[in-house]
Amino acid sequence: MKISEILKKKATISFEVFPPKNKDGDISSIYHTIERLADLSPDFISVTYGAGGSSKGKTVEIAKMIKDRYGIESVAHLSCITSTREDILKECESLKEAGIDNILALRGDYPSGDQAFDADAMEFHYASELDYFIREHFPGQFCLSGACYPETHQEADGFKNDLQALKKKVDAGAEYLVCQIFFDNKYYYRLVREARKIGIQVPILAGIMPITNAKSLIRMTRMCGCSIPYQLSTMIEAHYDNPAVMQEIGINYAAQQMIDLITNGVDGIHIYTMNRPEIAESIFRNIPNVLKELNHHD
Ligand code: FAD
Repeated sequence: MKISEILKKKATISFEVFPPKNKDGDISSIYHTIERLADLSPDFISVTYGAGGSSKGKTVEIAKMIKDRYGIESVAHLSCITSTREDILKECESLKEAGIDNILALRGDYPSGDQAFDADAMEFHYASELDYFIREHFPGQFCLSGACYPETHQEADGFKNDLQALKKKVDAGAEYLVCQIFFDNKYYYRLVREARKIGIQVPILAGIMPITNAKSLIRMTRMCGCSIPYQLSTMIEAHYDNPAVMQEIGINYAAQQMIDLITNGVDGIHIYTMNRPEIAESIFRNIPNVLKELNHHD
């Protein structure tokens, strides 16, 4: 089922997982993760593609398994910056064959440390070009979605230009958007408000990552360019060397963010699980009744 059809009826709650980074390509460790996440009955689970060095080849396999084995709708991420048109045709054919209806179409990051890499020489330059290409070659086959950046994409020349680029992505066929991680909901509200003003009407799902240790928080903020509110940084500074307290802070902070978003009528919440189902389970245990409210707003 296409996620756009689900979003017409309700605000969604979804999870993101990544293919395990094993040298031998063994993905069995993800089964247990998916099984536990599936027990929380998300509207969909998305699977990353080559992000952070994870294996590209396993995205289709895992997305298929989520759908076939657990009956949960899945979304396959697909990035294009290092791909040829032929590569993308092949990827889309295998997604079609696997029965996957949903693609999160991305440009991807430039390969780090590759001095010879020439972005201009590549066949795809922006995610919107991937959207057009997929729509042209697989009309009506997939529900396409795109990434968006409440605190502005790191390469963009300011928030307004990034928003105009986002509009191009939606015009090219992205039927909903998924936010980069943010820790201050104000950025999400600004993005939604300003996006609506320039005619972006598709659902915008908030991206939440429960941070459970200081190291991963620093890594994430470097990677994504998201800021850390004073209140959160103070708590981390005080407790960074106590893993149990850090975990409680991360789970409760994410739960608070979600309560605020749900209260304000968010289109959906996408939780970056980092393949740790116990964290998503803790959040769900913390706010079961608030989560039920997700679909009760007008
Ligand atoms: P684009 O939308 O193409 O934007 C890239 C930059 O170009 C932006 O600065 C934008 O402002 C600018 N731009 C876009 N279009 C135009 C235009 N027409 N003219 C001028 N400027 C333009 N990476 C992975 O490798 N694998 C994953 O699975 C993955 N999953 C992700 C999931 C989410 C929800 C998010 C938020 C990010 C994910 N990423 C993933 C990271 C993503 O690939 C990077 O953030 C990448 O740098 C940008 O990808 P994009 O699709 O947003 O690019």
